[in-house]
Amino acid sequence: MKIDGETKVVGLIGYPIGHTLSPAMHNRAFEYLDLNYLYLPFPVKESNLKEALRALPALSVVGVNVTLPYKERVLEYLDEVSEEAELTQAVNTILVKDSRLIGYNTDGKGFVTSLKKGAEFNPRDKKVVIIGAGGASRAVSIGLAKEGVEKITLIDIVFNKAQSLASHIAKNISKVEVAAVKEEGLGKEVREADILINATPLGMKPDDSLPIDPKLLHPNLLVYDLIYNPSKTKLLSEAERIGAKTLNGIGMLLYQGALTFTIWTGREAPIEVMARALKEELKTQVS
Ligand code: NAP
Repeated sequence: MKIDGETKVVGLIGYPIGHTLSPAMHNRAFEYLDLNYLYLPFPVKESNLKEALRALPALSVVGVNVTLPYKERVLEYLDEVSEEAELTQAVNTILVKDSRLIGYNTDGKGFVTSLKKGAEFNPRDKKVVIIGAGGASRAVSIGLAKEGVEKITLIDIVFNKAQSLASHIAKNISKVEVAAVKEEGLGKEVREADILINATPLGMKPDDSLPIDPKLLHPNLLVYDLIYNPSKTKLLSEAERIGAKTLNGIGMLLYQGALTFTIWTGREAPIEVMARALKEELKTQVS
């Protein structure tokens, strides 16, 4: 990789920045298209967040991804936010344009694109059940609501969280039915659903329990686990066993990255190249 006085810098702001796959994915794409860009990690402590964001235009940084724990917190420092970021109240991508910070959220659209490309699944008029009502669930549920799903059912250990996300969606996006349910109401919703999404971290650790009673799964479901490491969670194994279609979270990571790539460079993302980089990088992290 050539670095010179013309190299444009992008990166990732978060803390701590652990095993991120984004530098590998973006740098490989820059290299492939012969773009003089470089993606770097920027671990930023909370007390430095405002200063770090202010420094982006000063350092002529083109843009950054934003990850935990700052996706919501950066909002107050931005000059402009996209409709998705406003609706989601979270930002995963910042573009520096004319010294102004513009916030985007590509997670929801990235998720929807991964459904269409990875499983040829069009979410329009479909019924969706989402387990977990945290940050990822917010992006995914809003992405799906904007895409015209018929119904979204949310469940979270903390019922209030599911309830408040449901009412946020119902208030802001018309024509979608949204409900929050408790454990006892879940069976009926899953039976009627076309797609079940795990948006909890349950499944990342080998001894994690399943996020749902596997007896509720059925072969007509598409089961999507947002987790990508491990690539096959216990939930996906159970779903596969009963003949349901499955997807893991690598597609969401890929397509949110592809959308971000275009925001920063104005170029179409080389999807295959980025997918290969993700796969290879993931392999090095697993081994
Ligand atoms: P989060 O903010 O912690 O949200 C998870 C939510 O699920 C929390 O409200 C949590 O409640 C709840 N929960 C935990 N166990 C549950 C259970 N058994 N039943 C119902 N609800 C439960 O986490 P996040 O940032 O949204 O991330 C969720 C998952 O998505 C993680 O595995 C993350 O790696 C993945 N993710 C993937 C991508 C991708 O690109 N593929 C992007 C973002 C996130 P408590 O807070 O009370 O525990």
